[in-house]
Amino acid sequence: MLETVKQLAEQIFDEIVEIRRTIHRHPELGFCEYKTSDLICSYLEKWGIPYKKGVAKTGVVGLIEVDPKAKTLLLRADMDALPVQEETDCDFKSQIDGCMHACGHDVHVAILLGVAAILMQMRDRLSCNVKLVFQPAEEGEGGAKPMIAEGVMENPHVDAAVGAHVINSVPAGKVLVKYGEVMASPDDFNMTIRGKGGHGAYPHECVDPISIGVQILNAWNALSARYTTPLEKHLISVNMFQAGTCFNVIPDDAYISGTVRTFDETVRQYLAKRMGEIAEQIAAVFGAECEFNFNYLYPPLLNDQAMTDAVRKSAEAILGKENVLEGVAPSMGGEDFAYFSKEVPATYIYYGSGNEKIGAVMPWHNAAFTIDEQCIKTGMIVMCQAALDFGEK
Ligand SMILES: [Zn+2]
Ligand SMILES: [Zn+2]
Repeated sequence: MLETVKQLAEQIFDEIVEIRRTIHRHPELGFCEYKTSDLICSYLEKWGIPYKKGVAKTGVVGLIEVDPKAKTLLLRADMDALPVQEETDCDFKSQIDGCMHACGHDVHVAILLGVAAILMQMRDRLSCNVKLVFQPAEEGEGGAKPMIAEGVMENPHVDAAVGAHVINSVPAGKVLVKYGEVMASPDDFNMTIRGKGGHGAYPHECVDPISIGVQILNAWNALSARYTTPLEKHLISVNMFQAGTCFNVIPDDAYISGTVRTFDETVRQYLAKRMGEIAEQIAAVFGAECEFNFNYLYPPLLNDQAMTDAVRKSAEAILGKENVLEGVAPSMGGEDFAYFSKEVPATYIYYGSGNEKIGAVMPWHNAAFTIDEQCIKTGMIVMCQAALDFGEK
């Protein structure tokens, strides 16, 4: 079976690389992945795989069903690009100004299409149904939650899920697995401080929102360093502080926003509540008003032990033990695959995509981001093997 998977991956490789390049040339932002969605549907049709389109606007769900009573494994690829101007010189460079697949989601779509084609040909060897989920809008708004709300976990009922991402810090040909905490809750907050503007030489006649904002930022640092257990990973990152128009004018308002990253729900709730209280009280002490908003985004991404073990075993069988690495440190990044992993036992793995010789070294979201396309082969065979092993009698 291992050999068949490898042979089929080899046969289809060039076609899948072409698909990846086509998607790369035509990147689309979250919930606008119309062409990508059409392309996915055209291949599922070509390979005789039934699908549903328009799930959470631009999402597509394909289904390889072997037995309605069998278990169902969900495999997920995200589809969206980023508002980044591509700065590579590859010949399949983005043709859309200011839009680029700088996070490798083009690769994820291509790999999942390859997996679909291979598993369809090996259908009689599958002991589970495979739900192929092409999800819109991972970057920011999040397509996983609305897909679940529209019933992607049912008909047939999903028993487990696997998601994956390319990673340039791991060489192409290898995969990386992680246990437990993988990514944080990427919540955001914003705040407007309303003071009273006036002449910079007469601050006592004004209420300076900039100096009040600085006091609040300092207090938040203390909140993180002195009022939250150092044993729980978390961070408060202020990334916007906008105020003022002129060197001698105290502005009326200041605007501050940023992100809070946590893994623990208690810490998350505590920070959301205390950040707001501290901001309002400091603003009041100095005679300003303050409006603080905290937006809960994705849950933390946690990998299930048994699912991670299972996928690791499949990966080791098809790639060799030496090509399966175990990552230890979680990332403070966020990932809305977390919504699937909240519903069913799930694991999120990484396809090594780095290769110094061809310059595939840039980090995600960089304008010069490129990957070694050999990772497409690795991704296809690992996902296929995981599906073939899942629910095996
Ligand atoms: Zn990204
Ligand atoms: Zn990504």
